[in-house]
Amino acid sequence: MAFLFFIIIFVAKYFCMFSKEIIEQFQNIETPFYYYDTDLLAQTLQAVKSESEKYGFTVHYALKANVNDQILRQIHNFGFGADCVSGNEVKKALEIGFKPDHVVFAGVGKSDKEIMEALQADIFCFNSESVQELEVINELAIKLQKTAKIALRINPNVQADTHKYITTGTSENKFGINLHELDSVIDNFANYSNLKLIGLHFHIGSQILDLNNFKDLALKINEIQDNLEKKGVVLENINVGGGLGIDYKNPDENLISNFKDYFKNFAELLKIRKHQKVHFELGRALVAQCGSLISKVLYLKKGVSKQFLIIDAGMTELIRPALYQAHHHIQNLTSDKIAQNYDVVGPICESSDCFGKEISLNEAQRGDLIAIRSAGAYGEVMTSFYNLRDKAKAIYKNELLN
Ligand SMILES: *Cc1c(COP(=O)(O)O)cnc(C)c1O
Repeated sequence: MAFLFFIIIFVAKYFCMFSKEIIEQFQNIETPFYYYDTDLLAQTLQAVKSESEKYGFTVHYALKANVNDQILRQIHNFGFGADCVSGNEVKKALEIGFKPDHVVFAGVGKSDKEIMEALQADIFCFNSESVQELEVINELAIKLQKTAKIALRINPNVQADTHKYITTGTSENKFGINLHELDSVIDNFANYSNLKLIGLHFHIGSQILDLNNFKDLALKINEIQDNLEKKGVVLENINVGGGLGIDYKNPDENLISNFKDYFKNFAELLKIRKHQKVHFELGRALVAQCGSLISKVLYLKKGVSKQFLIIDAGMTELIRPALYQAHHHIQNLTSDKIAQNYDVVGPICESSDCFGKEISLNEAQRGDLIAIRSAGAYGEVMTSFYNLRDKAKAIYKNELLN
């Protein structure tokens, strides 16, 4: 009996992101701040590593989800590569220690300066999004006497069941080269003296939880490869992008995404050619759950038929709810009173500065600590200084408990 009791305590403690000790320490830190559970990050990275290694897949971390040095170092230490979407991200990745050979550079609007710097750094590959860009990369490569390795980002016209602002792979959006142009781009590729075509790149969107979307992508890639093979074209690299989603509603039940089935899906469905390498670019699924935005209750304001919980974090620290109507799980860390419903809002002068309506929280009072969960991806990186706000600090579990 006692044994069972200990097991339960152990399991509860293991799954609880905020132990008593941690909440006590939070009391001494100026709010709002970002809290990163570096143990959870390590467990997540380990899961990605072991599930992808089963099939010999290469994983690049999409830096745009979170660029904190500590997080990047941890990811780099696990041996992943870097997927960058700006010149500064390329620089950041190199500074952290990612080898140029493990850095890819994507993005629909790369500037001349960004392209030149990446050429000079001899990065692994440019994921190129248009013929117009290919011409510019080629010209700049001639000037610098370099050869640029290119993967063509193809718009596969595959639907992703996600918010319309984060779907990227249908013919209605700005990303990638359309399928009907692909043949002519490849037929004319030899005209680019300083470009070397090494792969195809895809990325259909973000926060995708229905693995059928990835199944559709894999089958579409097979079709494209079969067509290319008929012309005798087989490329060394297939990059299927990122986009695997996380559980925003019940983070504690699914702290680590289903990497097992995600990689298995591609291993089973993708017809991989001999010596062909398969690359992935995951952002959100690696870092979202390890981060929380911690905030303090400033005021409790009664409306006519509702009550507002005004907290000291706003859309300047986490813009996802305002930008994509995103849901984040919210908890009161310092109350165990009976739950009530609140509209949780920030201090910014915008009506969209609201983290959730009719949210059930343990009865709150001024000074309570509120955690907004799953804020590790597209949270801190999207900070703005609107209303001349201070930059919120980042706090790491491994530094807190030492
Ligand atoms: C944003 C992005 C990713 C990462 O997306 P997640 O949904 O965070 O996994 C990967 N590749 C490209 C090209 C991207 O723009």
